[in-house]
Amino acid sequence: MTWALTPLTEEQRAIQQTAREFARHELAPHVDQRDRDAYFEPDVIDKLAALGFLGMMVPEQFDGLGLDTLTYLVALEEIAAVDASTAVLMSVHNSLPTQMVLRWGSDDQKERFLRPMARGELLGAFALSEPDAGSDAASLRTQAVRDGDCWVLNGTKAWVSSGTHAGVVLAMARTDSPQDRRGARGIGAFIVTPDLPGFSVGKKENKMGLRSSPTVQLRFDNMRVPKRNLLGEPGMGFIYAMQSLDAGRLGIGAQAVGIAQAALTYASKYAAERRQFGKPIKEFQAIQFKLADMAVRVSSSRALLHAAATARDRGQHITQFSAMAKLMASEAAMFVTSEAIQIFGGYGYVKEYPVERLFRDAKVTEIYEGTSEIQRIVIARELYSHANI
Ligand SMILES: Cc1cc2nc3c(=O)[nH]c(=O)nc-3n(C[C@H](O)[C@H](O)[C@H](O)COP(=O)(O)OP(=O)(O)OC[C@H]3O[C@@H](n4cnc5c(N)ncnc54)[C@H](O)[C@@H]3O)c2cc1C
Repeated sequence: MTWALTPLTEEQRAIQQTAREFARHELAPHVDQRDRDAYFEPDVIDKLAALGFLGMMVPEQFDGLGLDTLTYLVALEEIAAVDASTAVLMSVHNSLPTQMVLRWGSDDQKERFLRPMARGELLGAFALSEPDAGSDAASLRTQAVRDGDCWVLNGTKAWVSSGTHAGVVLAMARTDSPQDRRGARGIGAFIVTPDLPGFSVGKKENKMGLRSSPTVQLRFDNMRVPKRNLLGEPGMGFIYAMQSLDAGRLGIGAQAVGIAQAALTYASKYAAERRQFGKPIKEFQAIQFKLADMAVRVSSSRALLHAAATARDRGQHITQFSAMAKLMASEAAMFVTSEAIQIFGGYGYVKEYPVERLFRDAKVTEIYEGTSEIQRIVIARELYSHANI
């Protein structure tokens, strides 16, 4: 077992315990079945809502729990250790749409969207990516055109996590005109709801991992969005999305640490039980060194993640820190889950044991909310930014 290096308060330990018990009792029993069937259990939304876990960082005045980033990440790690698909739902909802409306939303938007999102009555999703705009997200093509009291949106968003069940989608679309393209400063953030005419859910992805998290395309066909649903300024949506990804990446980092911790726990237990050549395989130094290398990566990822969370809570600029934490934790998750399979031998390669699922779930943490290559670009760029010189 490894422990958090950051001392947790009594309240943080209590929330960690609540998350751990919820994950064990409510998520663990059918997690493999949901993975096999690529089935999303909608009840999980109400169950998370009942614990307040869909409004963790929303102030109490808007019906949230008003907790800090560190407490949120500690709870998220516990959920991810058991069910990474539920963790991504919780991470996207808490880090992106709720935080965007909290930070840039009007009073009216906070009443209509933030409050029900914090109570878990509306699940939030984040729609930045498109089929031809991934790492280069500012090249997105979904177009918004102003028409009277509405913006008319046309386009396809790709890879939207929880897109099948979302009640609120923060969707980025171009507000500049084709004759006057303004790059990253020509994109708006729109609060889209599935009842708007012209909104439809498209193709559902058949994924390697996170199989019980529905990832879908969303199509907007002449979808009329009331102008009061535009978040902040018309050309600022991309900037809002990028700033929000600082918190988003911490959520993905916590997901990766949870997956890695679970793989380490299973592997160390198995190494104590599995006997070859007349002794438990944990007696072999080759296996001990693997476990040690895995533990180093889990603990150092968690320490960096918690430091970045604490910096966010102090109001520091964390773009570089959050990219570092996400990069380190996601690469640790891949390393640790791969070594866990090695320790299980042939039994690690079959679906009977959970390390096979953990390995598949870990991979996406190196891809979404910015690939590892993009995190390295962000980290290097920040070395030369004013904040760090
Ligand atoms: C399961 C899942 C859930 C997702 N959920 C969401 C969601 O809820 N909302 C959302 O908006 N998006 C979501 N995404 C999309 C995700 O953020 C993108 O997949 C990711 O940003 C990468 O984009 P891409 O897949 O188009 O890859 P590409 O951008 O095409 O990249 C392909 C390869 O090229 C590399 N590359 C690209 N540019 C550079 C460069 N400048 N330098 C070096 N290497 C580079 C990449 O690192 C990668 O290795 C999700 C994706 C997945 C798989």
